[in-house]
Amino acid sequence: MSQVIELLRAMVATPSVSCGLCGEADATHGESRMVELIADFWDRHHIDYEIQPVQPDRENIIARVEGGSGPSLLLEAHTDTVAIENMEIAPFDPVVKDGRVYGRGSCDDKASLAAMMIGLSNAAEKDLAGTVTMAATADEEYGFGGARKLVASGFMADGAVVGEPTCLQLVIAHKGACRLKVSSYGSAAHSSQPHKGENAIYAMAEIVRVLHDYADALYERPEHPLVGGPTCCVGMICGGQAPNIVPDRCEIFVDRRMIPGEDAATVKEEVTNAIAVAVADEVNWCIELSLAGYPLETDPECRIALRAREAIAAVTGDTTLAGVQYGTDASAFSLSGIPSVVVGPGSIEQAHTAVEYVDIDQVEKAALIYEKICTSLA
Ligand SMILES: [Zn+2]
Repeated sequence: MSQVIELLRAMVATPSVSCGLCGEADATHGESRMVELIADFWDRHHIDYEIQPVQPDRENIIARVEGGSGPSLLLEAHTDTVAIENMEIAPFDPVVKDGRVYGRGSCDDKASLAAMMIGLSNAAEKDLAGTVTMAATADEEYGFGGARKLVASGFMADGAVVGEPTCLQLVIAHKGACRLKVSSYGSAAHSSQPHKGENAIYAMAEIVRVLHDYADALYERPEHPLVGGPTCCVGMICGGQAPNIVPDRCEIFVDRRMIPGEDAATVKEEVTNAIAVAVADEVNWCIELSLAGYPLETDPECRIALRAREAIAAVTGDTTLAGVQYGTDASAFSLSGIPSVVVGPGSIEQAHTAVEYVDIDQVEKAALIYEKICTSLA
């Protein structure tokens, strides 16, 4: 078995389920076990690293290999995985079958992590034109917290390659996500006399109808050539305390996917206006931004895009410039001035699924691609 697949299997056997929105680290949740595994790998390869706390029991681990005076490079992939409930295979048993590795995180994102680590450790034995940093980051799945921490610490590079499942295609554009929480307010009363209260659920029903129309209208907008059009979905609703009380509060969570060129502040204003124009004045409501992950659009002629494209072409022959629907850490780096692209083994179709797996062939090719990107920086 190749080194990269052995490393990937060790990672799958190391639980690192994201703590999610409010959870704490325990035997399956938290990234610290992965940080130990990665630290041990760098120790064995005599590569320096630092550990950067993100949240309690959740850290980034950042390795660095000094190179010449050429452009500096960041390789980044995340250590957390999504939850394991409803999986149809043993999540932490890295079974190898039919040319695949199975298990939670095998595709998203431990395949990219393992391939980057092997790629960089092989490249480090040659002369690197520029300094290469590899960041294994925490808290990608729910908040992009690790990447944001890295950026906030003042980290800079001349280009970044983010590892996510792209079937080894070069991704230069993706959508961003803007999450909005809308609350409606009323006043409680006994439900036998509903006219004495104000029903927050009825108020929210009006708002939901407006957002349904708004979502339909988005399909009429011009599409981005690589990522398609913007979308909007009301994904969660909660309100009321009991069947016999007129509800005084209701909340919905709206997921608005942004295309390159859109930003969260403008989108929030747009949704606010759509609601304000269409609902009755007496409806009492408010809106807040709960999360913003920005879209990505990178110039295909910029240095890191050209280098990555060349490396991919040398290994797979594929020169496609692709866009994807999902968000990645690349937009956080791009926003801070680091031109960024995304490429990694595995398909997003297998990420987050009940039977997650990755093709071994893709992981081995990814290690070669990352190694070539590291050594062709001049
Ligand atoms: Zn991922």
